[in-house]
Amino acid sequence: MKLNIPDNIAAITPYPPGKPIDELEREYGITGSIKLASNENPWGPSSRVVTALHEELMSLNRYPDGSCYYLTEAIAEKIGVDPAEIVLGNGSNEVIEFLVKAFIREGDEVITSHPSFLMYQKIVQVRGGVNRVVPLSDMKHDLEGVHDTISEKTRLVFLDNPNNPTGTVINPVDLHGFLCKVPESVIVVLDEAYVDYVDKAFRVDTKNLVRHRRGSCPVVLLRTFSKAYGLPGLRVGFGIMAAEVAACLHRVRQPFNINRMAQVGALAALDDEAFYQQTLDNTRKGLHFLSGEVGGFGCISYPSQTNFFLIDIRGDADTLYREMLCRGVIVRSMSSYGFPHFIRVTVGTEEENIRFLAALKDCMDTLGYV
Ligand SMILES: *Cc1c(COP(=O)(O)O)cnc(C)c1O
Repeated sequence: MKLNIPDNIAAITPYPPGKPIDELEREYGITGSIKLASNENPWGPSSRVVTALHEELMSLNRYPDGSCYYLTEAIAEKIGVDPAEIVLGNGSNEVIEFLVKAFIREGDEVITSHPSFLMYQKIVQVRGGVNRVVPLSDMKHDLEGVHDTISEKTRLVFLDNPNNPTGTVINPVDLHGFLCKVPESVIVVLDEAYVDYVDKAFRVDTKNLVRHRRGSCPVVLLRTFSKAYGLPGLRVGFGIMAAEVAACLHRVRQPFNINRMAQVGALAALDDEAFYQQTLDNTRKGLHFLSGEVGGFGCISYPSQTNFFLIDIRGDADTLYREMLCRGVIVRSMSSYGFPHFIRVTVGTEEENIRFLAALKDCMDTLGYV
């Protein structure tokens, strides 16, 4: 076999394929472990979604609706925009892919922050685009640094707001100032995967941002059903953008990119206001509880506008990760993100939070951190 692999593809580091929990448990000889590593909703999915999916099963012999008519209408109504301003994806990750496919030619530049969500840069690499990476400043997007990095070749800017992994948000006033300075030819993408958890005071005015503002850059907002709605397994996300931008993305998508179960499940999730609200309330309570408690162990917790937060454990994070795993608690070491003393933890159920704290205390003592 003689593979002729393009240089840009050879240069890509594959997404670390984390083992299934069952395999990890077998390897470590444990059972009943809890996963606080992927910012998932520990209470989901809502029972309404499960019922709706059951009913849909008998239609699996038919192709899904390629226009996602009902789901698009429902999302548009909820947000207060037109259906023509919504593009659905197989997870919001697919919408990121559409943006890069539609707007990046070989050699075009894309600006991202580091650390931030890893998928932006990978997708740009696949397309032969050039990543220009701006370090976070004080755990936040450095908007000035991003602005200074814009060149004539810049086509896209990705800002996860809140940022993953730090959980910080962009101040809306700073964002406005930044957007006023970005050239009209650059699309600014605000990835709002965690927007549901954000305090109202920090939310941006969706409609105002995506509708054409005379002389200013296009803005695309990304949302997902993977976090607060508890449906990462179904893969549904969407972008909100000017209809002209949406029309470009529709050109590069496959006709049936959102499967039947995903359409029906997401629609039912939108309808279950009580589940959604309960998730937000429980998450806020859990975050408050956890961040208070870990301070007592000599760790430093960082404020977050999401369902996860960073903890400075003041010792090697990879070692702590493995020790936690032996106790059946899966967290994320931040060493690969450039924070060798930090872990990222997702808020779990009350019971999971208590187990996490006990394991953390035990590990900190065992390893002699602090
Ligand atoms: C979890 C997450 C997403 C969600 O991606 P999906 O493809 O919708 O599951 C997007 N962006 C960020 C920053 C995330 O953390």
